[in-house]
Amino acid sequence: MELGIALDLSEPGVSTGTWDELARLAEERGLALVVLTASDGRESVPEGGGAAASGEPSGEGAAAEQPATAGLDPWTAATWLAGRTSSIGIGVPLPDLRAESSHDAVTPYPMVVAKAGESFDLLAPGRLLTDAAAWVHAPRGASAEELSVLAGQGRPVVVPVDSEQEVRRLADLVSGAPRVVRPQRSLAVRARRRPGIDYESVPESLAGLAVEPGDPGYRGVASNYLRAGSPGLVLRPGTPDEVADALGYARRHTHLPLGIRSAGHGVSGRSTNKGGLVVDLRRMNGIEVLDPARRLVRIGPGATWKQVSAALHPHGWAIGSGDYGGVGVGGLATAGGIGLLGRAHGLTIDHLRGVELVLADGSQVRASADEHPELFWAFRGAGANFGVGTAFEFEADRIGQVGHAELTFVTTDIEKSLADYGRIASEAPRDTTVFLVTGRPRQGQWTVQLFGVVDNPDPEVIVERLTPFAQIGLLAQQQVVVTPYMGVMGSAADVGPEGHQGFGQPVSRSAFLPRLTPEFARDAADLLRSGRVYFFELRAMGGAIADVPSGEMAFPHRASAFQVTAMGANDGSINQVWDPLRHHFDGLYLSFETDPRPERLHDAFPPAVLERLREIKRHYDPNNLFRDNFNIDPHPDARTAPSGAVKS
Ligand SMILES: Cc1cc2nc3c(=O)[nH]c(=O)nc-3n(C[C@H](O)[C@H](O)[C@H](O)COP(=O)(O)OP(=O)(O)OC[C@H]3O[C@@H](n4cnc5c(N)ncnc54)[C@H](O)[C@@H]3O)c2cc1C
Repeated sequence: MELGIALDLSEPGVSTGTWDELARLAEERGLALVVLTASDGRESVPEGGGAAASGEPSGEGAAAEQPATAGLDPWTAATWLAGRTSSIGIGVPLPDLRAESSHDAVTPYPMVVAKAGESFDLLAPGRLLTDAAAWVHAPRGASAEELSVLAGQGRPVVVPVDSEQEVRRLADLVSGAPRVVRPQRSLAVRARRRPGIDYESVPESLAGLAVEPGDPGYRGVASNYLRAGSPGLVLRPGTPDEVADALGYARRHTHLPLGIRSAGHGVSGRSTNKGGLVVDLRRMNGIEVLDPARRLVRIGPGATWKQVSAALHPHGWAIGSGDYGGVGVGGLATAGGIGLLGRAHGLTIDHLRGVELVLADGSQVRASADEHPELFWAFRGAGANFGVGTAFEFEADRIGQVGHAELTFVTTDIEKSLADYGRIASEAPRDTTVFLVTGRPRQGQWTVQLFGVVDNPDPEVIVERLTPFAQIGLLAQQQVVVTPYMGVMGSAADVGPEGHQGFGQPVSRSAFLPRLTPEFARDAADLLRSGRVYFFELRAMGGAIADVPSGEMAFPHRASAFQVTAMGANDGSINQVWDPLRHHFDGLYLSFETDPRPERLHDAFPPAVLERLREIKRHYDPNNLFRDNFNIDPHPDARTAPSGAVKS
């Protein structure tokens, strides 16, 4: 029996992995064919329009088979896939090109499509099938018996899939056992390998999707959102077992930097490096409802908050996250999550009810209030030090329409604007969370932006809540909409196969501010006048964030009224203007901090918290495998960790 997979490109919600990863897995596991379709019912491409430009077919037949998608059309996807795979057949149902050409001499598309077909053949000789009669469609989830009946027609049978498990099930039906193909790399690629990495011993489970410096997909996984990187090897596990394999490999390479990456928005956490290893969890991005009555959901670390908000929206639920939908679940939900629903609903970690992790020694555990409670305590605030979170269980909130505001002001008196903002944001009812962003002055004027959410669907209440903020400067622009939380997160850009394109290294400082006093406004105005800070942000806290006792998790800074972030050109320059402000602060939020000076760890974690964390670290990661993000050294007084120490 010859089996293949059918991918519907208009179905954005594949639960694990993206469409091209499913196709690559199918190839890796020995399936014969991947058929690309898009079924969302768009109209055909206008004559001489986008079809000619994109090589996309048009006409009635093609329109029925290949409607436009929010993402890629099948033809573009097929071309992309041809470069990402080496042998699997690629099916794109097209009208008969020769027949169309002879019937229609006016419309240019058949000729264009024919040319595109020829080019495709040069790219991937003999791999494109355009005649839909060349395969048989099986229903989704078809059983082995159903498939073997269909295979009796003597053609490959394709089954719609949306998860890696389904691809694996089909592959197992064909071979009885998975077939792992280690990619053969050319001499030119192997010449770019980095010293100190045993490329030949990459575990079989990871070899197929591992990316090395010379590989075609390398550029898309090298950097993260804000930071340039050039890792020596990127491992891309898709299951907790594969994460354990990746960590086993990392344990054999402790002489190299190790970055754990979820969605790649790390500021403090590196999640990329130079010449080291990266464990990229983006394929683990499933979102599923576990218990509707409790609004309990289970989310993979590689999902972004944009995806999470979209998936929860149909239920009328949301989980307060950050202010930007592109940020990942893994990085945010291990550190805190100070977002635009913060005063109304608390931090993101306040909604965590359990987490599944792979520990440094490769063992898999679940941490919750009842299971490994100390680990659960540590994970909510200092999670990056203790393991790789492979699934996060959250209790979502019932959240309807909210007011989402973006207001832009101009001011010449930044000290007054900051003071006014501080007072108004702190006094606002807890349904209102407003952040302030500003930067360098231009000709003596500052542009100040406010980003806010009012957790109330009533436009009158929204306007009432926002009106006091109007006095912080001269209102230059305003946009206030009533939207589900999905609309707040939705503006984040989707990251395509080309990945993040961060460059340089961010230089950022972060602190908690107990109160925004007139003295702070004065000193912060001096900092802004210096011109050394190009991005300055105040995030309002309080409300539900302050309801949680400070000892409940490893995020002790509950009493702060604001979190402050400043970004500058380099450490020397920013320290000169930031260090004089320190007496205003009480602690720091590690997610926005890049200061390498060791005292910053003590700012993030007060002495008792740090000691408790070290104790837990000694238990779960005694050899300090996880060290890319505010490293809590388990043995700060010893030169090296005790050899052979293992988790008990
Ligand atoms: C544009 C932008 C907006 C932001 N907005 C907010 C905001 O509103 N509120 C807020 O609180 N923060 C915000 N942040 C900071 C953000 O929370 C952190 O940088 C976070 O680490 C990013 O998570 P990620 O998964 O995208 O990052 P990644 O770069 O993938 O990971 C960052 C670090 O987190 C750790 N980590 C990642 N995944 C895991 C995992 N599965 N298990 C254990 N550790 C892991 C690793 O140490 C890693 O280096 C923002 C950052 C950016 C760049």
